[in-house]
Order: sequence, then structure tokens, then C-alpha cells
Amino acid sequence: MFVVRGRASGPPAAVTAGVHGDEYEGVAAVGDLTNALDPVTLRGTLILVPVANPTAFAAGTRTNPEDGANLARSFPGDPDGTPTERLAAKLFTAVGGNVATTAYLHCDACDTSQPLAADTAAARSAAATVTEYRWKSATATHRGR
Ligand SMILES: [Zn+2]
Repeated sequence: MFVVRGRASGPPAAVTAGVHGDEYEGVAAVGDLTNALDPVTLRGTLILVPVANPTAFAAGTRTNPEDGANLARSFPGDPDGTPTERLAAKLFTAVGGNVATTAYLHCDACDTSQPLAADTAAARSAAATVTEYRWKSATATHRGR
């Protein structure tokens, strides 16, 4: 997780990728965004989570191999629950509790045969589609796939 604080004040926001471990475009897009950010010109704070589900990412699987659960369907999580529910609870508290808006990057047509080999940063960013905005709310639910 990266936290970039802008010099000027502004609303906090977050960008999260890698909720599904087999969706590489969003992970690359968050990396590109992290490198491109300039705290001098940034207003507010941006939290960047390139890999929200590291166990699934390491395995290259959509779901968490520890329990087979889909992180996108596990929010807000349970600190005493399954491995995926515990991860969801940590993310929900660490990220969702500190920002007004979170953009979740998912990929609907991932080419996992060559995830990051030849495409450009712009193409990767375009491929990572923002499928959901979650506005801060105590009752907000995650409707990801
Ligand atoms: Zn996804």
C-alpha cells in the first residue's frame, strides 16, 4: 500500500487493484499511477493498493486459494472470519475508513497468457476498467463480481 499526500489539501481517495489475483492490468495501472503522481501538484491524499489480495495474486487465481472465497464479495469482512473475510476487514478499515471514494480496478477480458509483456502503460491503464465506486458509508456494500 502506498500513501501519497499532496501538498494542497483535498478529499482523500483510494485506488485498489488485485482484488482478484488473476487480473494483472489493474495492478500494472496502479504501479504506473504511483510512479506518475507528483505530490507537489496532487490535491489531497491518494491511497494506492496495487495488490489487494496477495495470496490470490501469488497463485494467479481469481479467488483466495486458502479458502476459495471471492474477496470482492467478502466486504466489509469479519476480523474473526475466514482468511478472505479477515483480509476484507483489514482493507475495509485501512482503506475504506480513511477515504471518501475508492475506485476498484477490475478486468473483464484479461489476457493472462502474456499479462504484462508487450503492451504499453497506456494500454494497460485503458484495459483496467473502473467498475465500481464505493462512496463512504457505514452501510456501503461491495457489488463486485
Ligand atoms: Zn476483478
